[in-house]
Amino acid sequence: MTEIQNSIETDALVIGGGIAGLQAAIDLANMGLRVTVIERQPSIGGKMIGLSKVFPTLDCCSCICTPRMAEAKHHPNITTMTYAEVQHVHRDDSGFLVEVLKKPRYVDEDKCTGCRLCEYACTTEVPHEFEGGLGARKAIYIPFANAVPQVALLDLDNCLLCGRCAKACPTGAIDFLQDPKTIVFRAGAIIVATGYEMLPHNFKENYGAGPLRNVLTALQVERLLAPHGPYGRVLRPSDGRVPQSIGYVQCVGSRDLSRGVAYCSRVCCMYAIKQAMLLSGALPLAEITIYYMDIRAFGKGYEQFYQNAKAMGIQFVKAKVAKIREDEEENPVVRIELLDEDGRVEERQHDMVVLSLGLVPGWNPREAGLGAPSEDGFLRCGHVLSSPTQTAEEGVFVAGCAGGPKDIPDSVVQAGAAALEAAAYLRARGWASAARDGHHRKAALISGD
Ligand SMILES: Cc1cc2nc3c(=O)[nH]c(=O)nc-3n(C[C@H](O)[C@H](O)[C@H](O)COP(=O)(O)OP(=O)(O)OC[C@H]3O[C@@H](n4cnc5c(N)ncnc54)[C@H](O)[C@@H]3O)c2cc1C
Repeated sequence: MTEIQNSIETDALVIGGGIAGLQAAIDLANMGLRVTVIERQPSIGGKMIGLSKVFPTLDCCSCICTPRMAEAKHHPNITTMTYAEVQHVHRDDSGFLVEVLKKPRYVDEDKCTGCRLCEYACTTEVPHEFEGGLGARKAIYIPFANAVPQVALLDLDNCLLCGRCAKACPTGAIDFLQDPKTIVFRAGAIIVATGYEMLPHNFKENYGAGPLRNVLTALQVERLLAPHGPYGRVLRPSDGRVPQSIGYVQCVGSRDLSRGVAYCSRVCCMYAIKQAMLLSGALPLAEITIYYMDIRAFGKGYEQFYQNAKAMGIQFVKAKVAKIREDEEENPVVRIELLDEDGRVEERQHDMVVLSLGLVPGWNPREAGLGAPSEDGFLRCGHVLSSPTQTAEEGVFVAGCAGGPKDIPDSVVQAGAAALEAAAYLRARGWASAARDGHHRKAALISGD
């Protein structure tokens, strides 16, 4: 049964706790505004916290993202609420009433100390979503090493109800009877930072992803490359062998009118080049080939990054991939049409193939009554040139990939702009001071994060 609690006032409500949402929240909070961040996953950080290193600087991703997560969590003007989803947004004379569903973790967030004794006591292992299914997690677990908050989560669907976790917990935090709660926020402005999802692994049936174990998505390869990833090194999933030949297939589901996706996903060329460079560092003897239609290296320093990859020996082959099959040793074999050689068709065998899948919106705002998205499904902007973060709905702003595919620098820049536009909007409406009192005391009561 869903239980309704009192409404909580906040100046701005940010939907999505990825890098864009966190940046917008921190910028607003530093302007003295009270911000609430709603994140549907059990930790903030979004996709960025799962990446290995970032183009174009090849900085360690965790080293940049984790401090941002900690800053948002500990900022006196920010309340983060994880494992929560926005259900409905209603508008009234003074702003927005936002209904948020707080999903049960079956762990009391105020009592859990993140000690992991429950996790060590649990005997059930299932594929770990954070590792792209390549590693295992327990039925009760801390989402990942640097998750924020460090609070366990019990996956009731896979729990044997053996009670070992409850016995191991030193603070009595396990609560099998927790219910979902609906919490209502009153906010003056909303920033939508709901990011993206990758197209599903098996988006193109003729590419065999899913059934072919050595055909991976680029997000899975990010985990293979991460120092604390599922295997601790780069190994191919079917037999744990070190791959010596890796092929990348570009534009899988982007610019593909046969599947109805017309747009370019903007980050795939650069992340494939980045991963190829990192793989050739991790596996110096490996041959890495990128099958592409065009390389779009449009950001600052990106063309040089591409040229560096070529100088390192990464092969760029202008080709369309028609099909991927598997030979008897589970090696993926790609059938390609060579675009620079009059469309000659040939087959090439690799130890592992990576699909550069396109990006699609992380959330449809219509689900919450926030208006229709644009034709490509991403949030619609009111004035792309004069007010690029203001959406078609007054008081609702967009940041990061919620408005369309973007890299991290562009997401962070847009988040800063959204924060400024939202702050100006609130001040123009005389909102800012009205919501202050009691925000944090009440938010702390329901969040526990
Ligand atoms: C394989 C790969 C590698 C990449 N490598 C790089 C790189 O090296 N350098 C670079 O600059 N960029 C890279 N990118 C792009 C980068 O991931 C994005 O630019 C960045 O993550 C965008 O951040 P965001 O906050 O907009 O979205 P996300 O990271 O998607 O965050 C959105 C957040 O919103 C939450 N959310 C969604 N809907 C709801 C809802 N209804 N309620 C509450 N919460 C919700 C999600 O759970 C998520 O946490 C890469 C992308 C991919 C796919």
